[in-house]
Amino acid sequence: MRGGGGGWMGAERSLGGLPRTHGLRNGYYGDDWKGPVKIDRAQVRRVLSYFSPYWAQWLVIFVCIGATAGLGVLPPLLVRGILDHAIPTGDIRQLHRLVGGLVGLSLLVNLIGVLQNYLNARVSQRILFDLRNQLYRHLQRMSLHFYTTTRAGEIVSRVNNDVAAVQSVATGTLIGIVTNTLTVAATLIVIFGLDWRLALMAVLVVPTFVLPTRVVGRFRHRLSRQTQERQADLLAFMQERLHIGGMLLTKVFGQASADANAFETRNRDLMELNVRQAMAGRWLFMCLSTISVAGPALIYWYGGYQAIQNQLSVGTIIAFVAYLTNLYRPVAQLASVYVDVLGAMAVFERIFEYLDTRPEVEDRPDAHVLATTQGHVRFEAVSFAYPTGAEDPGDEPQASRPQHSPQGLALRDVTFEIRPGERVALVGPSGAGKTTVTYLLPRFYDPTSGRITLDGHDLRSLTQESLRAHIAMVTQETFLFHASVRENLLYARPDATDRQIEAATRAAHIHDFIQSLPQGYETVVGERAFRLSGGEKQRLAIARALLKDPRILILDEATSNLDATSEYLIQEALETLMRGRTALVIAHRLSTILTADQILVLDGGRLVEAGRHEELLQRGGLYATLYHQQFSNVVATATRARG
Ligand code: ADP
Repeated sequence: MRGGGGGWMGAERSLGGLPRTHGLRNGYYGDDWKGPVKIDRAQVRRVLSYFSPYWAQWLVIFVCIGATAGLGVLPPLLVRGILDHAIPTGDIRQLHRLVGGLVGLSLLVNLIGVLQNYLNARVSQRILFDLRNQLYRHLQRMSLHFYTTTRAGEIVSRVNNDVAAVQSVATGTLIGIVTNTLTVAATLIVIFGLDWRLALMAVLVVPTFVLPTRVVGRFRHRLSRQTQERQADLLAFMQERLHIGGMLLTKVFGQASADANAFETRNRDLMELNVRQAMAGRWLFMCLSTISVAGPALIYWYGGYQAIQNQLSVGTIIAFVAYLTNLYRPVAQLASVYVDVLGAMAVFERIFEYLDTRPEVEDRPDAHVLATTQGHVRFEAVSFAYPTGAEDPGDEPQASRPQHSPQGLALRDVTFEIRPGERVALVGPSGAGKTTVTYLLPRFYDPTSGRITLDGHDLRSLTQESLRAHIAMVTQETFLFHASVRENLLYARPDATDRQIEAATRAAHIHDFIQSLPQGYETVVGERAFRLSGGEKQRLAIARALLKDPRILILDEATSNLDATSEYLIQEALETLMRGRTALVIAHRLSTILTADQILVLDGGRLVEAGRHEELLQRGGLYATLYHQQFSNVVATATRARG
């Protein structure tokens, strides 16, 4: 899937032939990425930095592991004592002591295990907690560009699945490495102490474990990464289709069976991958198990030979064979440590990929807080192109910032001024750049060239938060959270009192309606709850904006036709909302245009005309044409009705 790879990757490509995940990785880095094949030291250090705040807990965990490994070498020695001393000498008391020791040891080791598991769970969950928080906060800072180029399901999958995978993979790997190393070390010390020739024989088998494991390592690593990606892909697909909007489309266009097939293909792909992942390396492990039988056989053969000559006790042979399990199992696991670390790195890497994606719009280090504003806005020779490339991964040079193609300018050299309290109407054909103008003011994007000022401050010198605190936006599509009406309103101003809320909803002509809802202000609204009509949602949005009480208002008037009552109510509400504020309106209503202090006419990203209604109409340019197209019949009807 990742292009140009070796044999199995080629097979992989023919397996699905699917459209790729349109996520960050593919969208941003192209198709030639093959994942890590080596462990990168800097990356390891970065991963460990998530573990280091909890060093005290880790220390206790490692002490527990050390104690377990140390105690683990004792039981075979006790068994040897039973076989070589207690039984031959008929010492019943010694027998009792040794057997009691065996049971006691096991109890102690298990108790330590409980403590270790508890600490382990706490620390690893704490690391997940930190990672999830960090990721969420980071994602909040990402610009609109990120959200328009990344599928929602993919983002959710990373925050959820990838972070969860950290626990099993990363902490499991770390604990595994320490446990196995200590166990091997302790066992080696004891067996060389017991009989160095037998020990040497046991150790000779070890290299046969280590060498083949590396071969399987990369294979398993790539499979695991692919599985993660496919899972994200499947999730994104489901979130898009099994969603009210997607399902509506599916039904209306009769695409149910095509979608089911597309789902099945993705699903099958994931299934095959999972099976392959489950089987990856199984052959190797089968060989390893077979080899590990060779060790005891050698011990029985050579030890038996020595015992016959009375040079070795039976107890020592039995103890030795017991030690072999202590030795081979951890060695086999350590042999695949490379695989495990790569796997853990892969999981972290997917998370780091997001964390390293730098938001396009960032506060400058010296950005200052704009405490109050008059609402005096200037666009000075502003040109803007929507970014086409990747957001900048942090460690890349500046040159790789998103590309802005000069041909694709959404705004070209736009200059205008909005004095405090003015109402400005943006008009122009669809695609002229009206929405883009409204996106630049709250800094959803920064201009490609030129600058925008508020009260004389370049927007880029202000903190985003303080800038946006003075701006409210009412868009055509009102988004409501799945929460009560009250909670949706409070989102604009968490400390608003009931009286303030009611004042806002009354001014927005929505109070009576809310009261008539089944649970009044506590009625849960949103996509999957009580669905409000377009007009009701808009009035709620207006109330929300009123509650925020901003100095600057950005308004995208609805184009959808509302019934006369709704239309009237909204118009009234908007009048209240705009009063005394600097207002930038994408105007579709005649009344807004007629009452505007200034009309800006955009065409193809250029500001082609500016002025008041009468002037522009007289000029007979684009505005006059648009006006006649859109409103002449409205005006005629109105005049006739009046006459
Ligand atoms: P209007 O609001 O006047 O209809 P817009 O400001 O939405 O126009 O769009 C201006 C131009 O920018 C259009 O050519 C549009 O296709 C383009 N555009 C809008 N949004 C994006 C985006 N996210 N990425 C790339 N181009 C965009």
